Amino acid sequence: MTIQNQNLSAELARIKGAEIVRSFCYTCPWTCPTEVYVRDDKIVYHKGNPDSPNDIGTRCAKGMASSYMTIDPDRLKYPMKRTNPKSEPGQFERISWDEAFSLIAEKLTEIKEKHGPEAVVWTCHHDPNTVFARHLLGDLYGSPNLYTHTSGCEQDRRFACLTLFGHVFPMHDFANSRYIMLWGMNMLGANQGLFESRALLESKQRGAKLVVVDPVFTETAQKADEWIPIKPGGDSAMALAMCRVIIDENLHDADFVSKYSAGFDGFREHLRDNGYTPEWAAPICGVDAETIARLAREFATTKPAMSACFKGPGYYTNGADASRAIYLLDAITGQVDNPGNIHLKDWAPLGPPVIIPDEAKAKPGKPPLHVAMGYPLAPDLPNSRLPEAVLNGDPYPVKAIFVQATNPVMSDPDKDKMIEMFRGLEFGVAIEVLMSETALECDLVLPETSFYEHAEIRQGLWLGPQIILCQPAVPPVGESKPLYDIVKGIAQKMGWGEHFPYEKWEDWGEVVMKDAPISLDELKKQGFWAGEIRYGRVADGLPTPSGKIEIYSKAYAEAGHNPYPVYSERSVVPDDDYPLQITHSKLSVHCNVLTQNNPLLMEIVGENWVEINTVDAAKYGISDDAYVIVESPKDNITILAKVVEGIVPGVVCIRHGHGFGHWAMGAVAKGKGAHSNVLMDRHTGPISGANCYNECKVRIRPA
Ligand code: SF4
Repeated sequence: MTIQNQNLSAELARIKGAEIVRSFCYTCPWTCPTEVYVRDDKIVYHKGNPDSPNDIGTRCAKGMASSYMTIDPDRLKYPMKRTNPKSEPGQFERISWDEAFSLIAEKLTEIKEKHGPEAVVWTCHHDPNTVFARHLLGDLYGSPNLYTHTSGCEQDRRFACLTLFGHVFPMHDFANSRYIMLWGMNMLGANQGLFESRALLESKQRGAKLVVVDPVFTETAQKADEWIPIKPGGDSAMALAMCRVIIDENLHDADFVSKYSAGFDGFREHLRDNGYTPEWAAPICGVDAETIARLAREFATTKPAMSACFKGPGYYTNGADASRAIYLLDAITGQVDNPGNIHLKDWAPLGPPVIIPDEAKAKPGKPPLHVAMGYPLAPDLPNSRLPEAVLNGDPYPVKAIFVQATNPVMSDPDKDKMIEMFRGLEFGVAIEVLMSETALECDLVLPETSFYEHAEIRQGLWLGPQIILCQPAVPPVGESKPLYDIVKGIAQKMGWGEHFPYEKWEDWGEVVMKDAPISLDELKKQGFWAGEIRYGRVADGLPTPSGKIEIYSKAYAEAGHNPYPVYSERSVVPDDDYPLQITHSKLSVHCNVLTQNNPLLMEIVGENWVEINTVDAAKYGISDDAYVIVESPKDNITILAKVVEGIVPGVVCIRHGHGFGHWAMGAVAKGKGAHSNVLMDRHTGPISGANCYNECKVRIRPA
């Protein structure tokens, strides 16, 4: 801590009569390092950690409001067991942790004997403590099916970056960039990382050009130099046409592609053979050919530059190749991992929290579900295909699901099918901070501590390697437990307690930090460790099959797909009955489970809405700020309308992740807003396994 920061923090602590706990915020995945001020086991204040390079001490509204979760009366407080038949939402009675652990151990043993260990699936958010469950259910029990929620998030971008660069999560070096092209990536609306958002705006102030390609005039588009209102699902056509212009006009970096990429010559032929020109792309993406060509020239000649996407282009069945094409703009112009480019960050050396000896490890008899389902390249479980495994035994039977900090009933398309799936299980367990729609369909509900009440040690989402620590600031709410203690309790009942020998979190923390550059004690004082930002990893060789950027994807070819990205039409196209296309965007003051039962945040934004163009509003008799019915072939929702100029006609945009107590079934959240997932059928990315949320056509009328 610098002297100045140290003095400020100490003075604040004195005024508040509080102890400082250095930690991080996990209200959203960007995990900003924080200082939590605690007096008499209560949080009296919290702010950003001023020494952290992530956000230099700032936090967003939802982070600042987040300590409410430690006093939320609707928090789950006790383990609970279902008392009624599974044909309806659960009613529950309180049980002890001992009974809960015994019941889980009994069911796990029974299911393994009858169906094999792979019949048990674990699905969660990206909480690093799920590694404890991986050791228990993966290493010891033998299930290969421990997954996170990526198919409902940035699965296509992740997939594209893994196949191209062998990197799971490139960051963005906005600060050094001069030309930034963001595709369907509403950083400022979705509040995608405070330090990245800040760097983007500061870079723009210094003269970088920001181009936003999005059907919606989002918060990020509003700050852009140029908004390109693309037709939904047209991203791959536009990006491929841009690649064609760059290569045809010799604006690519010939030296870079010959040294560091595989398949450039074939890609040039592929673009030509398929006729991927701006003139071809224009009617598909709704952007005129001259603009496509101009953007291509600007992008290739203004360095350093970056082309990047997040979820938007991936919400269609053609999203995986769209994401690859977007990142190929970086690859062919040599704009990868130099200052100002997409950044292939280094990871900090963090070890596993417990060591399971090889001889104790079980050997799974079947391949993981995503492979057996026919998605061998998918970076995570194609969640939308899970009901087939539970209800039809396809590709093999799944009999038990553990959901931790995730809510498939509301977060995946086709809610009714998801409910049917949970009701079809032999055993469902939810581990949550608040009752969720999925927890209501489970047999057991276990209360988990929030990030203010437990420890996590994880990789920081900053440009350099970074370790961040979340340490318990206040006691657990009710009888809630950290995941590491829940896993330990189950392990002990299963006879594997010896592998989880820790008494307190520091015991496993020391094991995780064994090879780290600082000690756990230092980490507890600082809250984070940040290493040097390193550029130029491409020249070192990448963790791809060829060691190079795979323009030609060997993995695609081996899986029987075109090794170069192609344009294909999205699956659902509006028609006379349902003439409007849905897209989605997020809200900066909300993040699902952890915000929608928060009265402070709900006072700022208490419900979501649908945006519709003025032309469409006039056509369908829609007024601004009035409720409307949005109807798909599957279902309908009633939602507030906002009539705007800034959206492509024929498209409506729903602020996603809200509605009917979505995530938090607490008194504040319940009944607020509308959830668009009920409108959707299940469409799965054909190669990546992503949920395709925007494959949905609707009509709209006044309510
Ligand atoms: S961006 Fe906001 S909500 Fe997300 S971790 Fe940072 S302070 Fe918390």
